[in-house]
Amino acid sequence: MVDLNALLQKKSFSKEDLMLFLSLKDDEAKKLLNKALEVKLREIGNKVYLRGLIEYSNVCRKNCYYCGVRLSNNNVCRYSLSNEEVLDCAKRAMQLNYGSIAIQCGERQDRNFIENINTLIKQIKKLSNNSLGITLSCGEQEKEVYEKWFSSGAHRYLLRIETTNEELFYKIHPKDEKHSFQKRIRAIEDLIEIGYQTGTGVMIGLPFQEDEDLANDLLFFKKMNVAMVGMGPFIPHNETPLYKYKDIILSDRQRLNKTLNMIASLRLLMPKINMVAATADQSISEKGREEAVLAGANIIMPNLTPRKYRENYSIYPNKASLGDIPIEGENSLDKRMLSINHSIGYGFWGDSKAYTTQNEYKARQ
Ligand code: SAH
Ligand code: SF4
Repeated sequence: MVDLNALLQKKSFSKEDLMLFLSLKDDEAKKLLNKALEVKLREIGNKVYLRGLIEYSNVCRKNCYYCGVRLSNNNVCRYSLSNEEVLDCAKRAMQLNYGSIAIQCGERQDRNFIENINTLIKQIKKLSNNSLGITLSCGEQEKEVYEKWFSSGAHRYLLRIETTNEELFYKIHPKDEKHSFQKRIRAIEDLIEIGYQTGTGVMIGLPFQEDEDLANDLLFFKKMNVAMVGMGPFIPHNETPLYKYKDIILSDRQRLNKTLNMIASLRLLMPKINMVAATADQSISEKGREEAVLAGANIIMPNLTPRKYRENYSIYPNKASLGDIPIEGENSLDKRMLSINHSIGYGFWGDSKAYTTQNEYKARQ
């Protein structure tokens, strides 16, 4: 019999330890989650930082088998926000004192797109007097493009590896030039080299995914020493190839529980990083994001996308109605966080403590 209490006191964890954490259920899972919460509160405190999410465009050149806005899905009305609409979202983030925004979109690599994102970064920096932090999540790009956007003022980038099992990667993506596991790893390395606070992550509960894969994912985050991680449950979308597996994957609640075990395990493995409570958590349980915060997450991304576009950013089903949190009243984000003894870090960029430490360390060399 493994002594869970003793295991939870350890300072470093093997793949086998992590696999055991991932398999925990009920009261034992609760012990893991409680330990992760204790570590989070001690290492980075009870503040939750916000990134106002701007879903800039659902135009995408890729065909990921899980995603509702994949190129081959003809039942999506394609849109891109105008620059003015993006700037309005950024102004809204400032009014709400969010501190940071995140621009997310389908992947494009054409000149127009690259230049437009660059212009937007500069305009947002200017209009906010450099006060808004900018996170990008615009897919894989050439290193020069990442460099250009970085020098214009973006300082964080999210690019999930989706799974670190190469074989599984090619079960959830076509195997071609546009969807290369090696290129994706290279892109994450490029982002780190350039100096972005780099975030990656995976989907949890994919068909054919084992706990061993997930444990390897956690060890990959540690090896890469990333500053942020965003992980969430896989949600089958009926207009995608992976939908046919919906009956062989874990149930909704099991995928959310596995996500919570992943978040908690990672908080033990990397105590100071930023970790997102994903909107996908909330699509499974109304309080899914609170559960993720209590398992060790410290970032929430409230949706700022203009309402008329939201149903078209359908990377997974029923997403449009999510991520909206009333600003006032009993159900407001403040109240929701207060009810779990957390508070919002208004007006701060909310940089990863892991990143700061790493840089301070470098500066001392
Ligand atoms: N195009 C960019 C950013 C937009 S997609 C990119 O792919 O990096 C952002 C994330 O949504 C992806 O990384 C993926 O992990 C997640 N996602 C897509 N489809 C999903 C689904 N069906 N269920 C859960 N997450 C999904
Ligand atoms: Fe495009 Fe990203 Fe969806 Fe893949 S996950 S199809 S790159 S938007």
